[in-house]
Amino acid sequence: MKSYREELWFDIPTRRAFVNITPQVETCLGKSGIRDGLVLINAMHITASVFINDDESGLHHDYDVWLEKLAPHEPVSQYRHNGYEDNGDAHLKRQIMGREVVVAVTDGQLDFGTWERIFYGEFDGRRKKRVLVKIIGE
Ligand code: ZN
Repeated sequence: MKSYREELWFDIPTRRAFVNITPQVETCLGKSGIRDGLVLINAMHITASVFINDDESGLHHDYDVWLEKLAPHEPVSQYRHNGYEDNGDAHLKRQIMGREVVVAVTDGQLDFGTWERIFYGEFDGRRKKRVLVKIIGE
C-alpha cells in the first residue's frame, strides 16, 4: 500500500468564505500516483471546515445566511467562549459544516457524484490555516 501526505495552506482575507479546493486535491492525487484507494481531507483548525457540496454561488450565500441565523457572529458577548477571542460563532459553524471528508479514488480519479466538489469553509479567517490531504491505496 502507498501513502501520500500534503498540507494545503490558506490565508483567507475575510472572516468567512467558501473555497473550492477540488483542483488542489486532484493535484495531490496526481502526485501520489495512487490509482485505487481513499483520500481524506480535513481542516486542521477548529474554526474551519471541509465539506462536499455543489459549486454554486447561490448555495454558498444560502449557507452563510443559514449559519449566521444559527450562530450569529454579533454580538460577540453572547458566547461564553469569547473572552480573549471573538470566534465563538466560528467554532459552532465549523461543527455543523464538518471537519473532514473521505472520497473514493478509482482509476486515479476522485470518484464523485455528479455535482460533488470539495470545499474549504473558513469561519474565522485573516490568518494562515491548513488542510491535511492524506491518500492511501495502490
Ligand atoms: Zn476560539
